[in-house]
Amino acid sequence: MLVDEYGRRITNLRIAVTMKCNLRCIYCHREGEKESGKEMSLDEIVEIAEAFRELGIRKVKITGGEPLLRRDICDIISSMPEFQEISITTNGTLLSKLAEDLKDAGLDRINVSLDSLRSDVYRFITGGDVEKVVDGIIAACNAKLTPVKINMVVMKDLNDDQIEEMMEFVSSLNSEEVKAILQVIEVLRLKSLEKYYVDISKVERKIASMAEAVVLREMHFRKQYRVGDVVVEFVKPCKEFCMHCNRIRVTSDGKIKPCLMKEESIDARGLRGKELIEAIKKAVKIRKPYY
Ligand code: SAM
Repeated sequence: MLVDEYGRRITNLRIAVTMKCNLRCIYCHREGEKESGKEMSLDEIVEIAEAFRELGIRKVKITGGEPLLRRDICDIISSMPEFQEISITTNGTLLSKLAEDLKDAGLDRINVSLDSLRSDVYRFITGGDVEKVVDGIIAACNAKLTPVKINMVVMKDLNDDQIEEMMEFVSSLNSEEVKAILQVIEVLRLKSLEKYYVDISKVERKIASMAEAVVLREMHFRKQYRVGDVVVEFVKPCKEFCMHCNRIRVTSDGKIKPCLMKEESIDARGLRGKELIEAIKKAVKIRKPYY
């Protein structure tokens, strides 16, 4: 079991498989990758995932860039070692064609980024076409990639007035076989994003006052509120969030990154066996809370 110097157990791996993307989101943090080298091959991804599994990682999330741009994305998923859960986070633009194949490859569940249902707002934020994403989400529901989580990054004067309409949309996705969850994400408080920054605590308080039940998740101590048939989860980076962070990252070019917000990383490219295990342990040792 991996445990860092702050007593935090590491159970989740977030692995970027490409930095290429077909959208241009105005707020994108690129999973903390500033400059990326050549992206890992399928074998390299599987090798590193296996080393993490041996060290007690239970859940893996595949990210990017846009992970569905990788032609071998289904092979990556089907070649993954046995994890308790394999999920992916996607912008959903290519999902309508791929959802069934992803499920068949062994994907358990999915997160889809959707910041607004209004086509003009969505286009302003991402440069893309909201209808494609909605089609992708419906395909994910049909493929039973459950729970389907809708990631909404809240931004001032862009979509901070649209949480209730997003809840209605999420409610419409729920069925006996598929659970849909709205994930309300606070935009990172970076200098470059200051004009979009909103503290989501106010929204959380409002949803909390309407909630019939609350669940506290192990991951980041995130709260999930149930309002009618909709579950709304809040993602707000803060001290509590860091103290309950059980995640470690791998960049698309094979570096182990202890924290999204920090520059440090350990280059694990080309390492195998014992050396790879040692590199992972070294990365865990330098892991420090950001907030
Ligand atoms: N393209 C994929 C997607 O859209 O899910 C994977 C990469 S994207 C960087 C992963 C997640 O990070 C998305 O849900 C996105 O909304 C979130 N994200 C990106 N930049 C962010 C920021 N500045 N603050 C908060 N969340 C952010």
